[in-house]
Amino acid sequence: MSLITTEAQAEAAKEVPIWKCTAADCNAWIKDEYVTEASPSCPLCNSAMERDLREIPAVVKKFRKTFIMGKRRF
Ligand SMILES: [Zn+2]
Repeated sequence: MSLITTEAQAEAAKEVPIWKCTAADCNAWIKDEYVTEASPSCPLCNSAMERDLREIPAVVKKFRKTFIMGKRRF
């Protein structure tokens, strides 16, 4: 059971660019797409942040497809 779950999660994960905090005792990080500054500072401890990659689960968008396929009514 647990093996199957792990495999499914690995398949759904994708690497995305992120910013991570450089402080050793802080593991805050933000997705690059949410960062507007050229060099953001950590929202938790105000330390400098550096670019990195992180594997996160891909978001499955089931609802949007249904919406697009809805028929127009006149
Ligand atoms: Zn921090």
